[in-house]
Amino acid sequence: SKTLIDVKDLRVSFDTYAGEVQAVRGVSFYVNKGEAVAIVGESGCGKSVTAQSTMQLIPMPPGRIKDGQVMFNGKDLTKLTDKQMESIRGSEISMIFQDPMTSLNPTMKVGKQIMEGLIKHQRLSKAEAKKKAIEMLDVVGIPNPEKRVEQYPHEFSGGMRQRAMIAIALSCDPKLLIADEPTTALDVTIQAQILDLMKDLQRDFDTAIILITHDLGVVADIAQRVVVMYAGLVIESGTLDEIFYNGQHPYTWGLMRSIPKVNTDEKERLVPIEGTPPDLFSPPKGCPFAARCKYAMPICKEQMPEKTYLSEDHYVKCWLQHEMAPDVENPIKKGR
Ligand code: SF4
Ligand code: MG
Repeated sequence: SKTLIDVKDLRVSFDTYAGEVQAVRGVSFYVNKGEAVAIVGESGCGKSVTAQSTMQLIPMPPGRIKDGQVMFNGKDLTKLTDKQMESIRGSEISMIFQDPMTSLNPTMKVGKQIMEGLIKHQRLSKAEAKKKAIEMLDVVGIPNPEKRVEQYPHEFSGGMRQRAMIAIALSCDPKLLIADEPTTALDVTIQAQILDLMKDLQRDFDTAIILITHDLGVVADIAQRVVVMYAGLVIESGTLDEIFYNGQHPYTWGLMRSIPKVNTDEKERLVPIEGTPPDLFSPPKGCPFAARCKYAMPICKEQMPEKTYLSEDHYVKCWLQHEMAPDVENPIKKGR
């Protein structure tokens, strides 16, 4: 089958003294082999928890996978033991994070950190692993790799550290790379370079990518499909074009309007989405976006909208799709 990872109805909660936080409330999505899929939403929408849960990287407890499946190569990752999961992490699935300093070991040479996975997962000798480490530093665009391989993370700039993280993540040739806000901490130019690099690697190594970001602006260059999350749910999903040119959820419209327009003088026209997401201790029974939505109707607060399919890949959960709903002009179709 062409599906690499298939997440089905994933539910994840955190048990706190104040009660159960329902961080992920039934999320489904899939990624095909070699495909790049973006999961987009504001902070706290459950996108990182979703990604981390697929690899059992959330702290358990307080985290708890309540329900759902994460099918990868015919195995349900939620059912694997720590040991089985560990052999998948870093070899078949790799993850890179926003802040490389939290995941790079400051006391170990960068080269050695790349070599570790190669020795463990691919059983290379030390000399072979070092050769491959130098090669990987070169692949991710780090100059003087023979010298850099002997250096410590603090001798690297922020952008270089992120490249080194990518080198570690890709050294074992994973089938899937999960990148959680990989460029957020970097300045705009470096951001673009890192995204370009990820795009090249996806093409050259045929690695599938899950890109997690709050910024819909960064997905355009890299993702083939987009999953929009809000309050622990997927509220719209489709191909890049379907979301960018025919997005139908008012929250997606809000995300579109909040993309900074870097190439124009219109930066000041960036429109933030007003209001805050609902409390996930007691999520609303209706549409979670209702309190912030200018199109909200009485039914929106009463009942969660079902999926409406607009194409094979594109669905949206919004009462505006109901035949009885008023016609609303799609603000993103009017052209940005
Ligand atoms: Fe707005 Fe209602 Fe659609 Fe929710 S279901 S996004 S409240 S119109
Ligand atoms: Mg996050």
